[in-house]
Formats: sequence, structure tokens, C-alpha cells
Amino acid sequence: METLLENIIIYGITALICAVIIVWYFLSQKKKSGKTLAKIEKAKLEGLYEPVSLYPVIDENSCIRTGACIAACPEKDIIGIVNGKAKTINASQCVGHGACFHACPTQAITLCMGTEKRGVELPHVSQNFETNVPGIFIAGELGGMGLIKNAIEQGRQAVENLAKNLPVQHNADYDLIIVGAGPAGISALLTAKKLRLKAIALEQESLGGTVFTFPRSKVVMTSSVELPLYGKVKMFETSKAELLKLWTDVLSKNDLAVQEHCKVESIEKKESWFQVETADGRTYSSCKVLLAIGRRGTPRKLGIPGELSEKVAYRLLEPELINNRNIVVVGGGDSAIEAALLLSEKNNVMLSYRGEAFSRLKPRNSEAILSAASAGKVDLRLNTQLLSIEKEFVTVSDSREGKTFEMSNDLVFIFAGGELPTQFLLKSGIQITKKFGEAVMKH
Ligand SMILES: Cc1cc2nc3c(=O)[nH]c(=O)nc-3n(C[C@H](O)[C@H](O)[C@H](O)COP(=O)(O)OP(=O)(O)OC[C@H]3O[C@@H](n4cnc5c(N)ncnc54)[C@H](O)[C@@H]3O)c2cc1C
Repeated sequence: METLLENIIIYGITALICAVIIVWYFLSQKKKSGKTLAKIEKAKLEGLYEPVSLYPVIDENSCIRTGACIAACPEKDIIGIVNGKAKTINASQCVGHGACFHACPTQAITLCMGTEKRGVELPHVSQNFETNVPGIFIAGELGGMGLIKNAIEQGRQAVENLAKNLPVQHNADYDLIIVGAGPAGISALLTAKKLRLKAIALEQESLGGTVFTFPRSKVVMTSSVELPLYGKVKMFETSKAELLKLWTDVLSKNDLAVQEHCKVESIEKKESWFQVETADGRTYSSCKVLLAIGRRGTPRKLGIPGELSEKVAYRLLEPELINNRNIVVVGGGDSAIEAALLLSEKNNVMLSYRGEAFSRLKPRNSEAILSAASAGKVDLRLNTQLLSIEKEFVTVSDSREGKTFEMSNDLVFIFAGGELPTQFLLKSGIQITKKFGEAVMKH
């Protein structure tokens, strides 16, 4: 009798513990789901929910709630858990590491390009990386696949392919002109040297590409990659500075240089070669052209006196290093607002926008800039335009007041939109198609 009672008590306690664990599990799942759903709502409001390039699509029926995809992703809040299943949150922030794709034990993830709502424009390229214009090739992120390692790999393969069809003799200045010196362009230049091609790389900004425009210093590479004339690059977690050192070392060891601050404006097909023109009026001829220009485009310039000065920038790279300066931020979009707000924490910031009011801003930015202006943290000047940039001041015109004034100034940040790479491609005769959710990596 006593043993029966003891057994009942033991079973009862075990059942109670199990019930507590189950209730705790469901409550914590509910809490997790709530947090992720709130992040999804925020991402939708801020325009970060719809992907702009590659992103993970999760098959809910195959997802078995391991969370391995979230643990594997080097970025933050691209995927979260709702009701125990993986869901995308900030799909537009996905940079395409593909770590989630490989980590999922049930192969529930496919990497896709574009959605039904938002198509992604991509150029046509063949298996050999050649476009519909014979002789013009594309490598790196411009072709759709992001990541430094993919760009390095494609830069190498594209040059190996195009080298197979080079005429033995020609009258062009170069065998190959490489446009852009990000990871794809650098790898292409090294491969060209290895194959003894006469090649040149033209870069509109400076060596390194998009990586150097990240507002963070950490760079992640999920696997090693073979860099021509160097060997295996095994930098899994590195900094922008270390990566730049790698590029400069390998180029200088091989006696190679990139022509920096040299923007390619047009590529024109002549009889058996291409004429490449740059923004500063230089003309080059080449048998083949490799476009390694990424997907970021070219920032629009204002075209005013003094704009070439060193104190002018089109991106905000290391805001934490800028203190106690008089700064003018130009523009009325999210990038301008975010830069003005960030800089205003430790500097005097004037935000100059030629419009009468902001439109199409993320709601969060719209509220933040108006309250910073009314609190006197940012000197907001609507209806104004920069007329010229001098060493210690800028001249500004105010169309509503009908006057011109000078402002003491140390730095100018211009966020006036830009030319998309697609415009550049179309000008060069390259066909583009829109992808509406096509799978790029699939099990
Ligand atoms: C926020 C963010 C974080 C990321 N984090 C990582 C990461 O941690 N790890 C990783 O592997 N990848 C990351 N990526 C992706 C990675 O940056 C890109 O996939 C990679 O840089 C693509 O290399 P690319 O050579 O194809 O193009 P890019 O690096 O974009 O280089 C293109 C170059 O071409 C130049 N150019 C453009 N037009 C012209 C022209 N007309 N004339 C001359 N030059 C021109 C540009 O100035 C640029 O230097 C990240 C991307 C972003 C946006």
C-alpha cells in the first residue's frame, strides 16, 4: 500500500515537472515569436523586409526548429523564429553568405533572387561570364552573387575564360581593361598578370570596393578562397584594414597598380576592340573588357566649385572618428538623415536639402530628424543648395529667403543619390532581366 502511494507521488511529481517544462517551453516559444514578429513589423515599416538581392526562402514544412540557420548567419536579425519555425526578418540586409543554406539539417532553405513584389535587375551572362555583347564580361556581385570569396573566384574564372579567345596580335592598347577594383577586379588583375595579359584596372574611387564603404570594421568570410598569385586566403573573421593590407601587398609584390579615381563613363564597340572613356576625358582601347563594378553604382556629384576637395565625401565611413567639426550634410533621403543624426552627437551639423519638405523617408528617420531640428541638435535648412565649397567655409543659397550665406565648415557629406550600375550596363548595350524570386542556390 505504502509503495503504491509512493509510486503515485513519484508519478505525480514527474507529471507536474513535465507539465511545467511543457508550459515553460510554450511560453518561451510564444515570447520568442512575439519578439520576432515585432522585428518583422519594424522591418516592414523601415523598408528592410523586402529583399534587394539574394535572400533565404524557408520552406516551413521542412523546417524542424533547430535554429541552426540563425546561429550560422554572421549578420544579425536576417532570420528569426516564429512559432518554432524560421522566418525572414530583415531580408534586405542579407549579404548572401549562404551559411544558413549550408547549416540547415533538413535542407529547408533556398537562396533566391528578388520576389514577386520586388524584382531584381540582373545582366545576362553566359557560363563563361560573357554578356550578350561579345568581348564584354562580368564578374562579382554585379552578376548577382554577393560575397568577397565569390567575387574573387569569379574574377579569376572570367579572365581565364576570356584569355582563351584573345587574338594573337591586335592594335588595341590592352588585351583587357578591368572596370572596378573590388575583390572581383583585383582577382581579375592578378589572373591577367599570371596569364601574361596586358591589362589595366580602372577604379572610380579607391582600391578595395564595397567592403570599404561598410559602416562597420568587421569582415566575415565563411570559407577560404584561392587568390591568384597569392595562394589560399584564410581570413575567416578579419578587419577592413587587414583586408586592404592583403590587397596592397599582393598587388605591389606582383608589380601591379590600380588606376584609382578613374571612373569609366562609356564603353563603345569598335571593329574588333572596345573604346573605353573615363570621366576625366582619357580614352583607352582594349580587346576585351571585364566589368567588376559591383551593384552599388556611382554617387551623384553636385557639380559645384570645390567639390573635388578632400573634405568632401559621398559616404560616411567612420563616424566615431569625427568630433567637434563643423559639418554640412547634403540631401533629403534616409542616408543623409541618418548621417546627419549620427554626426550631430559630437559635431555641429547643418543639413541642407533643396526640397520644401522630406518625402519617402523611413518613418523613424522622419520623426528623428524633425525632433533633432526642433531640439537644436541639427541645423535643418530646407529650400537650400550648396553653391561652392571653400577650404574653411561653404556658400549656400536659400531659395525661400532669396539670399546667399556663408557657413564655417570643415567637412561636407553629399548624399544626392547616384547612377545605378544597370544604367551603365544599358548604355554599354548589355541586356538586363528582372528576377522575381528565382532560386540561385537550391538543394
Ligand atoms: C553592409 C554589407 C556587409 C557585407 N559584409 C560582407 C562580409 O562580411 N563578407 C563578405 O564576404 N561580403 C560581405 N558583403 C558583400 C561584399 O561586400 C560584396 O559581395 C563584394 O564586395 C563584391 O565584390 P565586387 O568586386 O563584385 O564589387 P565591389 O566590391 O562592389 O567593387 C566594385 C568596384 O567598382 C567600382 N566602380 C563602380 N563603377 C565604376 C565605374 N564606372 N568606373 C570605375 N570603377 C567603378 C566601385 O567604386 C567599386 O570599388 C557585404 C555587403 C554589404 C553591403
